[in-house]
Amino acid sequence: MRPSALNPLFSSARTLGGIGPRTIELLKKCLELPPQIAEPRVLDLLWHLPAGVIDRRAEPLVRDAVPGTIVTLKVRVLKHKAPPRGNSKVPYKVTCEDDTARLDLVFFHAERKFVESQLPIGEIRYVSGRIERYGETLQMSHPDYIVAPAARGDMPMLEPVYPLTAGLSGKVLQKAARHAVERMPDLAEWQDKGWLQARGWMGFTDALARLHKPQEPDDISPAALPRQRLAYDELLAGQLALGLVRLNMKAQPGRPVTGDGHIRKRLVAALPFKLTNSQINALKEIAADLAAPHRMLRLLQGDVGSGKTAVALMSMAVAVEAGAQSALMAPTEVLARQHMETIAPLAEAAGLRVGLLTGREKGKGREETLKHLVAGDIDILVGTHALFQSDVVFKDLAFAVIDEQHRFGVHQRLALQAKGAGGATNVLVMTATPIPRTLLMTHYGDLDVSRLTEKPAGRKPVVTKAIPIDAMERLIERLRVQLAEGAQVYWVCPLIETSDVSELAAAEERHAHLKQIFGDTVGLLHGAMAGTDKDETMAAFAANRLKILVATTVIEVGVNVPNANIMVIEHAERFGLAQLHQLRGRVGRGARESFCMLLYKEPLGETAKARLEMMEKTEDGFLIAEKDLELRGGGEMLGSRQSGMPGFRVAEVPGFDMLLAAARDDAQLILTTDPDLVSPRGQALRTLLYLFECDEAARLFRAA
Ligand code: ADP
Ligand code: MG
Repeated sequence: MRPSALNPLFSSARTLGGIGPRTIELLKKCLELPPQIAEPRVLDLLWHLPAGVIDRRAEPLVRDAVPGTIVTLKVRVLKHKAPPRGNSKVPYKVTCEDDTARLDLVFFHAERKFVESQLPIGEIRYVSGRIERYGETLQMSHPDYIVAPAARGDMPMLEPVYPLTAGLSGKVLQKAARHAVERMPDLAEWQDKGWLQARGWMGFTDALARLHKPQEPDDISPAALPRQRLAYDELLAGQLALGLVRLNMKAQPGRPVTGDGHIRKRLVAALPFKLTNSQINALKEIAADLAAPHRMLRLLQGDVGSGKTAVALMSMAVAVEAGAQSALMAPTEVLARQHMETIAPLAEAAGLRVGLLTGREKGKGREETLKHLVAGDIDILVGTHALFQSDVVFKDLAFAVIDEQHRFGVHQRLALQAKGAGGATNVLVMTATPIPRTLLMTHYGDLDVSRLTEKPAGRKPVVTKAIPIDAMERLIERLRVQLAEGAQVYWVCPLIETSDVSELAAAEERHAHLKQIFGDTVGLLHGAMAGTDKDETMAAFAANRLKILVATTVIEVGVNVPNANIMVIEHAERFGLAQLHQLRGRVGRGARESFCMLLYKEPLGETAKARLEMMEKTEDGFLIAEKDLELRGGGEMLGSRQSGMPGFRVAEVPGFDMLLAAARDDAQLILTTDPDLVSPRGQALRTLLYLFECDEAARLFRAA
């Protein structure tokens, strides 16, 4: 259970003064919280760190104020000059002075009463904002602060600037963050005292306070002490959580799973192709891992189109040969069904019994499947998240494959594992995203990796070209020619704003447009469609009844239609490299020459330009991933977002590698000397785990 001292941090941000329902909505948008967090909490505000600081400490005499800079001035109010009635273009002016010069405060569309109450004639006021020269006069338009001498202390001389969203004011966020800091309970120090001293780090709460109420402009820098301390806290929490999960796994015996190869032999005979050497190697590694007495957790990494599905099927056969069951889990309905379609004929040829379970299997059919499953009459169950439901009971699940794993969280992986006897299910996760080593380590610890490095024979390169959207007419003419020759086209429309609604609108509009030109052979696929409609559309495209499939990014993951040979991506400049690469991977799978057309809107930013050029230059997923990291630079140096891995809140700082290594050692030492976290430091570390929401790991320590 989470220590009750932390409750104030986990309560809704509404409990901070001055935050109503409207602000909550804006905050939700601004903080980009994961979907399971329904409402921003106090903690989420604390982790929303300032991106900059406005320095108001320059307090010159008016005469000496440098135009173009931010200054705080002490002035006397001389006179008000309201704009002529009915002319809203002319601003309201308030003339002020000190002993050296005059200054106009300028307000456009001012509310007269407000200005009068803020700046009474004859009074002294402190005003802060950007000063400018306007002809002969000095002026400040819309000062950021106007305060009376008595309230002078309320003006933040170093004002944190937060990443914002339209409609949310910086002042609201500042205030909320300040209140959030005040909510910090007294927490016992979890870091080693000597280590803190050596690094010159302050306490956790002080560090947070420094970020939200900086005392020096540099305080908020990712390289500065406060941020470094918090980064280390996050990394230590992560490493500790991983260590706990690993200890727990080790404590539970795995089961050796070996087969005699008879089903695999039949599968190989039924496959319409020869396995690549990469596939054969990966299979060897997986079989050896399954045969070992520990529990398996392995990652199969292979670029799009490298043939991971065949490897999954062959590995699942091992468990069946051993008399047990396997499961294959996909992130989407479309993909689960596609896997089922690929696997079913092969399975039949090899004498494997396969079942399907997604959110759409309901009623009698579902009951039937569950009955067969628990009786052991299904060898391989293919499905989606629906496999997690508690009434899904296997007779003997020995092996689970998770496809495109980055869509699943760690807790889901653990839940699946628990479905096996004694929670001993062996797990293989498959991904096309080349996840950087550091990131893997941070999230999984020492996970074993198999790689598919070669592509199946006969793959044609995909000719990739970036063209401005203005050239679309020419593109459509070329498509006409291609279609006449039997081509099939994916046409992807991206997220225009942050809501799915507009992505949908863009796709619908393009669909209508293309339909006018190409008629009924143009289909539309989007996330909001009913499942059966999605299937039908996908099936029509796969069967070549539809020639052009306009889609939102739902097709990104894993769809396999070998005859499709043209990928058009609209607003390609808005996609990340990894995503572009994923999308392009949908074509180049068949005999036809393939193309990827990246439509962009001008003007193109530097980074977007570099991305598109990279796409034109190479198809190598690893090179692309590297370039992606490079282009992302410091802000997202680990590419966590790109790979879909759960990101960090504060840990992406200079010196990350060093901090991570130290955190790993530290966690190891802690778990060797105090595996149940019962010492005083251990107790404090439990709080740390909860603070960083490593709850699934926290659940693992024995009640103390
Ligand atoms: P991914 O690794 O992206 O999941 P898939 O498993 O969907 O790739 O395979 C992509 C395509 O390559 C499929 O049409 C599959 O039948 C085919 N394929 C897989 N392995 C081979 C192989 N060894 N030789 C030829 N084609 C193969
Ligand atoms: Mg796949």
